[in-house]
Amino acid sequence: TRESRVERVASLIRDVPDFPSPGVMFKDITPLLSNPIGFQAAITELVTSAPRPIDTVVGMEARGFIFAAPVALALGAGFVPVRKPGKLPGDTVSASYELEYGENTLSIHRDAVRPGARVMVVDDVLATGGTIGATAALVRELGAEVAQVSVVMELSFLSGRDRLAELGIDNYSALV
Ligand code: AMP
Repeated sequence: TRESRVERVASLIRDVPDFPSPGVMFKDITPLLSNPIGFQAAITELVTSAPRPIDTVVGMEARGFIFAAPVALALGAGFVPVRKPGKLPGDTVSASYELEYGENTLSIHRDAVRPGARVMVVDDVLATGGTIGATAALVRELGAEVAQVSVVMELSFLSGRDRLAELGIDNYSALV
């Protein structure tokens, strides 16, 4: 059942205190990935969260790739990577967003998503929403629609969900 899948996924995400810096509770998904039943449960639930049709699934470097690619295959959609600057060889568009200290930039190939495409964005963890917000901006800059945003886990105390709502992303779901 959905409930048992979600419970299994939750039980396989490990809390690592003070990583990568003091005060941060890091959500480690590697126990989930190494458990084939758990990993499959996460993919099944992400796929279930998608409104059809989806043309393209976008995943962000690096942990987003791991979940977005199998979701794309299951949906019969293409997979498109969003990467740190300087990694994609073709013509790209970029978006920057504020971090606690400094800023971060993400890039996507300009020809990777067709105008009007229905896009699903998949990542492992939603924290402040900066990463997904910038990714949504890239998708929209290419003239495509952010039809769904799904994550494995949400850190609800950081209110990323509210930030996504402010950006007009109203199809959002978190497994845990
Ligand atoms: P944000 O842009 O603040 O929503 O942060 C989300 C991105 O940072 C995701 O790609 C996550 O992989 C990563 N991230 C942020 N906070 C955590 C955390 N506490 N545990 C694991 N990953 C995190």
